[in-house]
Amino acid sequence: MPLPLCLPIVPRCLVPQLCRSAASSTFYDVIISGGGMVGSAMACAIGSHPHLRHKRILLLEAGQKKEWEPVPEQFSNRVSSITPGSATLLSSFGAWDHICAMRLKPFKRMQVWDACSDALITFDNEGMVDMGHIIENDVITSALTRQLDAMSGVVEVQYRSRAVGYTWPVPYSSGEGSPFVEIQLADGRSLHTRLVIGADGQNSMVRKSGGLKTIQWNYNHVAVVANLQLSESTENNVAWQRFLPTGPIALLPLSDMWSSLVWSTSPEHASELLKMDDESFVDAVNSAFWSSEHHSDFISSAGSLLRSAVLFLQPSGSSSRQLPPSVSHLGDKSRAAFPLGLSHATEYIRQRMALIGDAAHRVHPLAGQGVNMGFGDVASLVHHLSRAAFDGLDLGSTRHLLAYETERQRQILPLMATIDLLKRLYNTKQPPLVLLRTFGLQATNALPPLKEQIMAFASK
Ligand SMILES: Cc1cc2nc3c(=O)[nH]c(=O)nc-3n(C[C@H](O)[C@H](O)[C@H](O)COP(=O)(O)OP(=O)(O)OC[C@H]3O[C@@H](n4cnc5c(N)ncnc54)[C@H](O)[C@@H]3O)c2cc1C
Repeated sequence: MPLPLCLPIVPRCLVPQLCRSAASSTFYDVIISGGGMVGSAMACAIGSHPHLRHKRILLLEAGQKKEWEPVPEQFSNRVSSITPGSATLLSSFGAWDHICAMRLKPFKRMQVWDACSDALITFDNEGMVDMGHIIENDVITSALTRQLDAMSGVVEVQYRSRAVGYTWPVPYSSGEGSPFVEIQLADGRSLHTRLVIGADGQNSMVRKSGGLKTIQWNYNHVAVVANLQLSESTENNVAWQRFLPTGPIALLPLSDMWSSLVWSTSPEHASELLKMDDESFVDAVNSAFWSSEHHSDFISSAGSLLRSAVLFLQPSGSSSRQLPPSVSHLGDKSRAAFPLGLSHATEYIRQRMALIGDAAHRVHPLAGQGVNMGFGDVASLVHHLSRAAFDGLDLGSTRHLLAYETERQRQILPLMATIDLLKRLYNTKQPPLVLLRTFGLQATNALPPLKEQIMAFASK
């Protein structure tokens, strides 16, 4: 493969090793390592941008090509709540149309409530506008795959191609080694690039091999997921979440008759839930949504006093409590479990490297933000890369990559801290903390401007 015409930005005499190896390898302007939802979206976004589409772009994915053709009748058990901001990104390069042609379920309201008190908060846009969509991860990935197929002359995709090593550049001045990144693949090939985008998930090899530090902890929590059939057909356009002392349980709409369960709980309880027969599992879910076993008289009385005080101060700020649907059947083989944790790379970039998605940050799913944060990374990084390309700059330079890092960390750190705080605040039955969160939830629920701000922040 001949070197692209744009390569000699660095004089050839300065990079003898590159010149030797270029003859036997392939050079790209950008290589995205990891073709999950976030990496595939990144490839589509770069490939559709007028300032970037003429670049040589490669997406490397260790797994097989994922195509859902035709869409199976049974729902998959991995779903994501997708914000309007993410839908806008997916629309910008054509993937949203493929999602709409496959399957998605809009929701118009969210109801979140506490199992230890009567406190609740609801979010809706007066029922007029969709608050978000519940979409199977396989639908999102298949839509992105279809879009990548449509861009085949612009973006190259190599499936079953696992990166097993990265050699990072040495400074130009040293006169040794390559100023570009070399990627070694499991099949023995090696590639060179100006910029590696690490979209290789929570155990990112790009992050580890680049020596980026990570703050991380496990929550000692496991998310049990399943698909559940409702007892009766309804509009099913509400996303429900109840905070149990053991962790949040969420029921997300998939269709008039089906919803998706995400139940975060202790590893011991999760393994019990996985072993139960179907009928006991359905009973356990209904009881988790309906039971008042965690209520106490003291918290109930204090909670109703607080509610009266809040209503007195803000009479228009109340919202009606709806009852969640009851479930009747468990979808075939739909139960599975995923360990939960938090991780955050202290830096998202290095020279010729940027991290996006779970490779950079991983959060508890209680706020449904993980992949949305990844799509936010895509929008931001494409913006900064396109400016660099327009100005004729090297895409791998830290100058514009730093602007990406700053922009994203300003958005992500407060969101991660809030999600972590909520996880801790709700993971207890201690009366002072239950009272504190009861008051916080009721006060927030009674203040429409505050709720609007939360909705605007969470829908990006
Ligand atoms: C139970 C649960 C519920 C969730 N619900 C929501 C929700 O409602 N809303 C939301 O926004 N988020 C949600 N999330 C989070 C969301 O699923 C993740 O944030 C998202 O999947 C991360 O996508 P990613 O593309 O960054 O990483 P991944 O999905 O991990 O993809 C990484 C890709 O990189 C590939 N790869 C890895 N190593 C290599 C290599 N060396 N070479 C080549 N390829 C490689 C892998 O094969 C994989 O395809 C949830 C998570 C869980 C566990």
